[in-house]
Amino acid sequence: MFENLSERLGSVFDRLTKQGALTDDDVATALREVRVAFLEADVSLAVARDFVAKVQAKASGQQVTKSVTPGQQVVKIVHDELIKVLAGEGEADALKIDNPPATILMVGLQGSGKTTTTAKLAKRLKERMGKRVLIASLDTNRPAAMEQLAILATQVGVDSLPIVKGQTAVQIAKRAKTQAAMGGYDVVFLDTAGRLHIDQVLMDEIQAVRDIAEPRETLLVVDGLTGQDAVNVATEFDGKVGISGVVLTRMDGDGRGGAALSMRAVTGKPIRFVGLGEKMDALETFEAERVAGRILGMGDIVALVEKAQETFEAEAAERMAKRFAKGLFNMNDLRSQLEQMLKMGGMQGLMGMMPGMGKMAKQAESAGFDDTMLRRQIALISSMTKKERANPALLAASRKKRIAKGAGLEVQELNRLLKQHKQMADMMKKMGKGGGMKQAIKQMI
Ligand code: GDP
Repeated sequence: MFENLSERLGSVFDRLTKQGALTDDDVATALREVRVAFLEADVSLAVARDFVAKVQAKASGQQVTKSVTPGQQVVKIVHDELIKVLAGEGEADALKIDNPPATILMVGLQGSGKTTTTAKLAKRLKERMGKRVLIASLDTNRPAAMEQLAILATQVGVDSLPIVKGQTAVQIAKRAKTQAAMGGYDVVFLDTAGRLHIDQVLMDEIQAVRDIAEPRETLLVVDGLTGQDAVNVATEFDGKVGISGVVLTRMDGDGRGGAALSMRAVTGKPIRFVGLGEKMDALETFEAERVAGRILGMGDIVALVEKAQETFEAEAAERMAKRFAKGLFNMNDLRSQLEQMLKMGGMQGLMGMMPGMGKMAKQAESAGFDDTMLRRQIALISSMTKKERANPALLAASRKKRIAKGAGLEVQELNRLLKQHKQMADMMKKMGKGGGMKQAIKQMI
């Protein structure tokens, strides 16, 4: 899986991590190569572009921590972005198979591996979760396919719906549901007919089956070797029948991997499983982190950077705690706190995370203390000179006017900010004496 892409990226980053200092040009060159490698792996152009742009933006704003090279940090950024592009909003949920019997509709083109995947999933649910599984083939066009599913069912030790000649797909689906309910099955798989290409007759049939079967999941099986075509097929199936997830098959082959990288970003649908061979055990759940690790193959570097970042943050927290304890809480400190708050989802988000602060978050919201306010406060601080930021005591009336004007705000608002700063500085000082400060700061950076 992903050998070619992995190799290409490996050589790009090997070079990058060996360099001590990195210029923006070095990073840009490396990222151009990443883009080419992605395109060669058949990742969609839009996804490849977006990926590189995001990495570029993060790499140029990165904090350089001691003990790792800038190249190593770029590797970590790429790793994190890979996880994001693979996982989308988050890891895919487990299959929804509560409320027995749960119907799982299997759809896909002929030859994609649909029947094989159905049997693999049935085996998995039976062996790992102790489920009673029934599988049924709705492929009325190909009696051989129906027989193949029955053979596979026997092989993996689950029941298959007896074949009745002359029934339509909808009739078989109804029979399967009844049988599943009466027979006390937990899960029933409906393996729909495939076609070589997407056509309206096929889609109409799947829609009719879907309406009768009311599946909890509709899984699309696509051949991972087909790259962007797999993504196009997913888009079409999703538009016409609605899918809840994707199974990418043949990921054991020397695939280019593009389907895996584009699927979530293009279709919005999660990859739930990957097929890794013809054997009935050759199926894995799709975990973005593990897949990203495989694609990049630089786990050591990623771990190293993570460790360095932790140390860096701990040291920064310690330095800040020491300064605050001495009453040295200036406008720069306040600004970085405000920026952190914004990053962490604003005031409400931050308070919502602290125990017992949920109510306060609501009050703060109704008092108009929201992201807009954070942004205004940051604008006010940015409008100060370096000296003023370091020593807010300098702020006489004329300076205040200038600062407020610079931020396009009223002096009143600046006064409120200064008062708030003073209160915070006093609080920090108190807390600093009592300890527990480092912990509080560490959470904020
Ligand atoms: P269907 O027409 O979509 O039902 O496809 P089948 O399930 O009959 O699979 C077609 C062929 O692909 C069979 O020879 C399977 O053994 C093979 N196949 C299915 N999944 C995989 C996989 O993940 N890896 C490999 N290498 N072969 C697979």
